This record gives sequence, structure tokens and C-alpha cells, in this order.
Amino acid sequence: MSNVVNVEEIFGQNVFTIATMRERLPKSVFKEVINVIENGGELSKESADVVANEMKSWAMERGATHYTHWFQPLTGITAEKHDSFVGSADADGHMLTSFSGKELIKGEPDASSFPSGGLRATFEARGYTTWDITSPAFLKESGAGVTLCIPTAFCSYTGEALDKKTPLLRSMEAVNKQALRIVRLFGNTTAKRVNVSVGPEQEYFLVDWDKSMKREDLIFTGRTLFGAMPPKGQEMEDHYFGAIKPRVAAYMHDLDLELWKLGIPAKTKHNEVAPCQHELAPVFDTTNIAVDHNQLTMEIMKKVAEKHDLVCLLHEKPFAGINGSGKHNNWSMITNTGVNLLDPGKTPADNIQFLIFLAAIIEAVDEYADLLRLSVASAGNDHRLGANEAPPAIISIFLGAELEAVVDSIKNDTFFEKINTTKMNIGTTVIPHFTKDNTDRNRTSPFAFTGNKFEFRSLGSSLSVSGPNVVLNTAVAEVLSRFYEKLKGVSEDEIETKVHDIVKESIIAHERVIFNGNGYTDEWVKEAEKRGLYNLKSTPDALPSFIADKNRRLFEKHGIFTDSEIESRYEILLENYSKTIHIESLTLKDMVLTEFMPAVGEYVDQLTASVTAKTSLDSHLGCKADMKMIRILSDGYDKLFDLTAKLGEDTDKAENMEDSLAQAKFYHDEILKDMEQVRSVADSLEVYLPDGVLPYPKYEDILFYV
Ligand code: ADP
Ligand code: MG
Repeated sequence: MSNVVNVEEIFGQNVFTIATMRERLPKSVFKEVINVIENGGELSKESADVVANEMKSWAMERGATHYTHWFQPLTGITAEKHDSFVGSADADGHMLTSFSGKELIKGEPDASSFPSGGLRATFEARGYTTWDITSPAFLKESGAGVTLCIPTAFCSYTGEALDKKTPLLRSMEAVNKQALRIVRLFGNTTAKRVNVSVGPEQEYFLVDWDKSMKREDLIFTGRTLFGAMPPKGQEMEDHYFGAIKPRVAAYMHDLDLELWKLGIPAKTKHNEVAPCQHELAPVFDTTNIAVDHNQLTMEIMKKVAEKHDLVCLLHEKPFAGINGSGKHNNWSMITNTGVNLLDPGKTPADNIQFLIFLAAIIEAVDEYADLLRLSVASAGNDHRLGANEAPPAIISIFLGAELEAVVDSIKNDTFFEKINTTKMNIGTTVIPHFTKDNTDRNRTSPFAFTGNKFEFRSLGSSLSVSGPNVVLNTAVAEVLSRFYEKLKGVSEDEIETKVHDIVKESIIAHERVIFNGNGYTDEWVKEAEKRGLYNLKSTPDALPSFIADKNRRLFEKHGIFTDSEIESRYEILLENYSKTIHIESLTLKDMVLTEFMPAVGEYVDQLTASVTAKTSLDSHLGCKADMKMIRILSDGYDKLFDLTAKLGEDTDKAENMEDSLAQAKFYHDEILKDMEQVRSVADSLEVYLPDGVLPYPKYEDILFYV
């Protein structure tokens, strides 16, 4: 077989891996690099020069002509500015390539056109990128040749973070610092770091390239803004885990290869619930690497799709009436020696340490539920949360039956009854002994314990996973720091009792956030309200929590965001929301006025001509159906004209609003409603139109043909 794939051989072939560095760098320089990766700090100038030079040689051997500092500005996608390796010419006129340590470590892209939420006036446009040595450099292949990409953080000259990586690295440090102090209390003297691990499961749609290029809404907004449901949707549940069709299988195979080359451990692929919806999950990794990889994955998914004459839609709700796409953020804390702190463990001692981390997460999620909610808020994701296809907008925690029983026994000082087995006598120990539970899955929960990790399920498919992890890390670090204050200095034989008390106190204060039932029901909405939980339904409802005092204090205390960084990010999030709906509104209006209505008009003309012809032939010929359709279509045509006019006027109004929160609210309350009204009339008319009348493909033409 000629197309045999050797995963081991191609995995990471486009990555400047640790192994590559070990092979190519002088021993002392290699040791210095590893030391900086593991313990932080900076490379000496001399070593940086050596690393840069080797990186350049390695990249050029593989065809690279350029390098770029690859970064993640607040647009949510990645950015790059390419510089070639061209240096100066020698006396004979031979060009000498160059790439210095300084160029490796620091770059200066013109920052003025990236969103900064007012942090940096455009006249002081300078920002700089700095190498994230913990995330390996890699090669990108494209029509533009091969480029060496150096993962970097992006800051303003005054040191404010302008990207999604800087706060993430800061939050990982916060968890490391606080979690390490706790494991030390439990006698762990060997661990040097506590890393946060993330495994993001990515959902997506694949549609035909030619077809989607005929729909302005897909081109401009990534989703369909109107379109009637075909006779078949997802009700037969025949797509989920179904056999993968050849065209999709070929795409997935190609995608795997491209991802593996970049050292992205793509692992699982399958069909999802909706027609032409699929999922890809990698093996989990340290958070900053997982975030970089997920950004790259999304980019490559789109690129590979193009090669297969497909479009990969990452929008949260590309089609109404069928499920949209999300992302599950699997999250855990693992020591550098490989101990997963969210694994209940096998011994009672392991259990005690686990319970402290568990309680910290419960307390963190309850207290900062508003931040978690806003970390997944976007115009696209608003279509999913609470719509019975994704978790509700209310943040709660699912523990599973066994863990809940453990928690209950601690709270109530009762015996812990092991589910399905005999009652356990806890004897002299204070904390019940339990083992890893095969948790039953509750798909409706936004935040579920799944055996040795938590799964945050509210993320939208196009979102950078950075934001939710920044919040999660920081909130958990905060609660761990509180627990540390209570635990420090406690003697070894008292620690179990002390942990018991802390866990008990924390559970009693925060048990309202634990919910094991069905999150899709109205009863839960009412119950959650009674419990005083946040129910932040839309993005404009959620975003103001960013600037709430308790949340500012949290971010400042742990060095994640300064006050002005919070303000600027808040502004950008509001702006993004309004801009997104603004573009959707203009696109809908344009499509209805210039494509849909002319098609309706044309068909009405046809019908009218046919009625005239028929009655001139014989005035008694039946034209009831034609007349009825003419009436329905003409009425609808008038309505559409008025409704699009109103949409246009309201959108003008929205655009001119000064206050960004009021503006976002207006887009939510008025423009989305206007758009819904236009859509509902258009969709009701579409079913009368003969095939081929519309100049763009309908839902039924798109959804079942890949
Ligand atoms: P699901 O049933 O939700 O698909 P899987 O067991 O397939 O769950 O895992 C989903 C993701 O969780 C994968 O990306 C996997 O690598 C990741 N994962 C597994 N263990 C951990 C962990 N300890 N920390 C973070 N992510 C993890
Ligand atoms: Mg999952």
C-alpha cells in the first residue's frame, strides 16, 4: 500500500520539538532552554542567538523563507506578520540569511489596528510580542511557502496585555503557586509545578464550497440568517456516531495528517447530532499549548476544507432548527510528576487531598459563576445556551451520584453509603473512603465531574478556549489561597479533621451550585432562581459582570488583569457583540431585498401571467390555487418590505448609539427581534417557491449533500 501513514514518523515533523533541540543545540544551551521552560526566567543573549540560528537552519532545511511571531490578539483569531530570513549581502554580493536571538525573543508588529478597547491610542501604536518558550515553534505550509511560526504573547509598550495568551500564562502561574502550596501541606515535596491540563473537543459543520459561496450570509456571518427547514432535520438521530461518508472521511484523514505534522495530538473523530456536523478531540495538554493547538486546529480545519471543496463552519449556530456547535473544555490540575489532583485516588489519604481541590472548585464555580458565564458569551453562543441543545445559561456543577453522596456525608456528618454496595463504617477516620466513580453522564450540565477532570461544556465552537480557562484558573487559585490560609501550620495528625471542617463549611456555603438533575427543564430555571444562582441569558446580560467589584478584585489580586485591562476587554467584548449583529442585520436586509424578494416577485409575475392566460382562454377555468398563492406571496412581499425597512432604521439607530452597553442591549432587544420577524415571514414564503427560483441554495440543498 502506497498511502501507508506512519503516525510516529509524521507526528511533530513540522515542530521544533524538545527532541530536535536536544539533537541540534550545544548541551549547555539545551540545558538552559529546558531550565527556562520548566522554571521560567529568560535565556541569556548568547544562548538566544544560538537557539535562533539553529531554529533558522532547521526551518530553512524544510523550505522556510520567512519567520513570524504568531500571536492571539483580542480579535479571537491568530495574527502574524512575516519577515524573511534575508540579511545583508557580503562583499561578493552573496546574501547572508539572519535570525538573531533578539528577533526570536521580541517582535514589534504595528499594533494600532488590533482591538485594544482604548488601552492604547493609535498614535502610540507600538506593541511588542515576546516568545512563549513553553509552546514550541512550528512550520506553517501554505501557498505562500513555508513560514517559521514562533508562539508569542502580545503587549503594549506600557506592559498591558493586548492578547489572549498573556492573561492565560498569568492564570496558570496563579494556579501553580496556590496548588503547589496545598500539595506541599500534604507532604508532597517532589512536585515542582502544578500544571493545568486542557482537552478541548471541537465541533464543526462541513458544507459544500460552491453551494456556500452562493450564500452571502454564510460568507459574511458564518451562519444562515434565514431558510425554511427541510422535511428532514436531525429527528431520526441517525447521524450521531453514524458511518462517516467518503468525502468527509477523506477530509478528516487529511486533517489528522496536517494536525499531526504540527504535533497536535488529534485523537477522536466522529459524526455529531446534526446533519453534516462532526467532532474532533485531541489528547489533552498543558493549557497554553492546548489553547495554541486549538487555535491552529480551527485554522487548519478551514484550510483543509478548502482543499476538499468544502467549507468548515465553526459558527455556533450555522442553521436554525438543528443543533449548533460547541466546544467542551476538559480541565484538570496535574503535577509535573504526573499526579492528577482531580483523581480521587485509591487511598483515604489521596481522598483527603482530592476533597480539598474538589471543594475549591465548587466554591470557585459558585462564587464566580458570572465570570464563567461571561467567558463563554458571544453573539453566536447566545443561540445555543438555554436552547435545549447545550447547557443552560445558568452555571451549575454536576458531581455524579457517588461524589454527591460523599459530599452529603461530610456535610451532614452521616455515614457514607457506597452506592450499590454495603454501608461503610467510617470508623475512626473523619473522611469517608471512596474510589473513582464511573460517573453517569449528565449531558445537560454546564460543568460536570467526569471521573478525574471537570468538563466545562458551555463554550461555543468558534471561541478561543483561553478566556474560560483564565477565569477557571484564577477562581480556583483564589479559593485555594483561602484554604491555604486555614490549613497552614496545621499538624499532620490534625490535617484530616481540618480538611473535613473546611470542606464541610465550603459545601454548606456553596452547595446551591451543585445540581445533578436535568438542566433543560423549566423547573430548574425556577429552582435556580430560588437558589439565587445567576441566570445571565444573553451576552449583554453577562458582560457587565466583568467590571463588578468582586471580579476586579479577583483579577487584580492574582495579577491577571489590571483595572485598565479589564475596562478595555469589557469594551472590546461589547463592541464585538454589536458589530457581529450589525453585520448580520445588513446582510439579512441585503439578501432579502436583492435576492429573496425579487425571486418572490418573479414567481408572482409568473402566476399572474398564468391566471391571465388561463382566464382569457376560458373565464371559468379554476385559478383558485394560483390566486391564493398570489395573495399569500404578495402579502408577504409587502410585509417583508416594511419589516426590512424597520430593520434598516433600527440598525441605523443602533449604529449611532454612544454608550456601548446600551448599544449592545439595543442590538439584542431590538435588532435581533427585527431580524427574527423578517426571517419568519421569509421562511413562511419560501415553502411556496418552486425549486430553482432562489438564487442561492436552500437548507435542503446544503444539509444532506456532503
Ligand atoms: P467525551 O466522552 O466527553 O468525548 P473523552 O474521554 O473522550 O470524553 O475525553 C474528552 C477530552 O478530555 C479529550 O480531549 C481528552 O484528552 C480530555 N481529557 C482526558 N483526561 C483529561 C485530564 N485529566 N485533563 C484534561 N483533559 C482531559
Ligand atoms: Mg465531552
